[in-house]
Amino acid sequence: MVTFIIDCPICRAKVGAEEKGRLDHVEFDEDAGEPYGERILIGTCPSCGTSLVGRAAQNEFEGWDGSQESTYSDVVRIYPKPPKAFLSHRIPRTLNESLIEADRSFQAGANIAACVMLGRSLEALCRDVLEPAAGTGEEKPVKPKKRMMLAEGIRELHARKIIDDRLLDWSQQLHAFRNLAAHPEDITISRQDAEDLQAFVYAITEYVYDLTDRYNEFKQRLEDKKKPRPSAAEMFSSLGIPKM
Ligand SMILES: [Zn+2]
Repeated sequence: MVTFIIDCPICRAKVGAEEKGRLDHVEFDEDAGEPYGERILIGTCPSCGTSLVGRAAQNEFEGWDGSQESTYSDVVRIYPKPPKAFLSHRIPRTLNESLIEADRSFQAGANIAACVMLGRSLEALCRDVLEPAAGTGEEKPVKPKKRMMLAEGIRELHARKIIDDRLLDWSQQLHAFRNLAAHPEDITISRQDAEDLQAFVYAITEYVYDLTDRYNEFKQRLEDKKKPRPSAAEMFSSLGIPKM
């Protein structure tokens, strides 16, 4: 029996899944001038029987760059419960990368590291939303800017009504866990607590970006509907077609 190590979301643990199928895919990336590859694995959890699908990125390629054999990264689960994907294009790279790292730590059973990355995610969100972007003219040019810290950022998000009381409360819980996790104290953080904190950060990110974008689009549609429709003659003239 061939097995691969993957996180089972039902057992909430790393398991040795029985491999039922695999797909290796290698391509040559012309732009990067090097091969690119991935391995998709399908299997079942040995304790609960859940179907599990994982993906591993190929690190080394046999016969390429002096490699004796192909090697792969750890398997990250893509089904069930795939990594969370957000829709908004406004989500900054630092936030996105921190969320991905948090999920990786989480699936590797590193709950403390996951909490640190979740704190970093929220801090990235605060800075993106609250700090004026360079060149907008909102910045005071003389005073050198101190980067916004998490506690201050959370208070400010609430003061500016970007988050409500409940999201404020969740953010403060995350902040407390992040502080514990970021210092070399003798602590343990349960998988369940880390999972809840991750759900809170996802909810806050969704609220601040995805739902705000969606609401603005919705309002825009209503506005557009209210505008009087152009007459056929106006439409023709705006297209440069002479009136008949
Ligand atoms: Zn399981």
